[in-house]
Parts: sequence; C-alpha cells; structure tokens
Amino acid sequence: MRSPRNTFQRRLIYDSVAELGTHPTAEEVYEQVIKTHPSISKATVYRNLGQMAETGELLNIGNFNGSIHYDHNCYEHYHFICTECGHIFDSPAVNLAGILDNMPNIDGFHVTGYNLSFIGVCSQCK
Ligand SMILES: [Zn+2]
Ligand SMILES: [Zn+2]
Repeated sequence: MRSPRNTFQRRLIYDSVAELGTHPTAEEVYEQVIKTHPSISKATVYRNLGQMAETGELLNIGNFNGSIHYDHNCYEHYHFICTECGHIFDSPAVNLAGILDNMPNIDGFHVTGYNLSFIGVCSQCK
C-alpha cells in the first residue's frame, strides 16, 4: 500500500526527471528535487528511483560514464551517447525485428528484452 507521502515523493521525482529531460543520473535528480524540496534526503531519491525503475514508471537506461541514468520516456526507443560531450540523446526505435531470433542460445537463460545504445559524436561536437 502506498502512503500519500510516498506518492507525493514519487510524483516529485518523476517530474524532476521529466523536467531535466537529459536522462539524468540519480545525483542530478536529487539536485533538481532539493531546489524546491530541500528536506528530501538523497537516500529517498535514490531509493524511489530504483523502485520506479523496477515498476516501469521510469526507465533505467544503464550505466554510462560511471553512473546509472534514468529516463521518463518509457516508450520504445534507443539512446545515442556522444563520446565527446557525454550527452545522451533519444534515438527513435529502429526496426530490429528478429534480433531475438538471432540470439545465441545460452543454456538456462531466458531473454525477455534488450537495451540498445549507439555511440558516436553528436552534431554539436562533430
Ligand atoms: Zn556531443
Ligand atoms: Zn530516452
């Protein structure tokens, strides 16, 4: 059961991820949250981010440059990471139909999805 306080915090954290719009790290989300709600602890932000990624309210898009990044866009899309400036851009879903059929069979593993990122240099850094 969710307490109203918990729901409020989640809403706030979700909104902060969306406002930033940059696939922020937990640290960046925390910095954004305390601008308006300085009493919220870092542990609360980190814990909620983890829980929301588990329930699918947010997306954990993986570990880049040493930190986990989060995304409020939960539709199917991929990411482009610029190796120069480190920015993470949304990339529309490309048609990879059949990619799972070509997965090598690993004994005892059941693949349910995949997480794809492209790496390169963005138009600003080129
Ligand atoms: Zn760049
Ligand atoms: Zn994204």
